[in-house]
Amino acid sequence: MIIDVKDLRKSFYQGQRQIEALKGISFRVPSNESLAVVGPSGSGKSTLMSLLAGLDTVTDGEIFFDQTGIHQMREKQLNTFRAKNIGIVFQQFHLMPHLSALENVALPLDILGRDHSQDQAQEMLERVGLGERVTHRPHQLSGGECQRVAIARASVTRPKVLLADEPSGNLDTATGRKVMDLLFQLVADQGVTLLLITHDEALAQRCQKQIHLVGGQLQ
Ligand code: ADP
Ligand code: MG
Repeated sequence: MIIDVKDLRKSFYQGQRQIEALKGISFRVPSNESLAVVGPSGSGKSTLMSLLAGLDTVTDGEIFFDQTGIHQMREKQLNTFRAKNIGIVFQQFHLMPHLSALENVALPLDILGRDHSQDQAQEMLERVGLGERVTHRPHQLSGGECQRVAIARASVTRPKVLLADEPSGNLDTATGRKVMDLLFQLVADQGVTLLLITHDEALAQRCQKQIHLVGGQLQ
């Protein structure tokens, strides 16, 4: 199992009020499979994504990637682990506004100290159909193009796992479909494990398996 989640819980506190965003969820994903996590707004999808990405800390439970438990890692160790093993695609792209498309894609390689980052970034941008736009900054690109850059950035390090949270959520239907075609093509070519978070049942059906999250629990 590349991803193994055990009895995962996350609570937020607002003053005296406790919000149980995840109420003990467990699931596993075999290597090279695609899994959709489907659920309505507020069901805990983005909370789950943050925990899997190690961007927030768990309240209780365990998360293993390839038998490595990330729920107990310290921040520095987690940052390195994430950079090497996990690619993340957000609904809002989260590109660096002051960097070009090429620099955005080269950044994770530079952080890992990998050689030829610019060449690899160029190659990856060509792969996502943006070979001619490498010097553009995010504000000079359309939403669909920004998400292509983000997908290139998430894939360029060759992570074992790709996490995508509503990756077409900010795009119109036609653009969203094209960007998702690209994502699924890359996933197939690179043999990466995909965890796709979405409220879109049709999109979820493109993954090999689906699980349903409602009110912080799996159905
Ligand atoms: P989804 O992505 O499925 O729409 P979220 O994971 O964003 O759902 O949110 C799940 C629940 O947790 C919601 O009730 C939301 O208001 C709450 N929540 C999420 N993040 C926080 C936070 N940082 N502080 C307080 N409550 C939060
Ligand atoms: Mg969300």
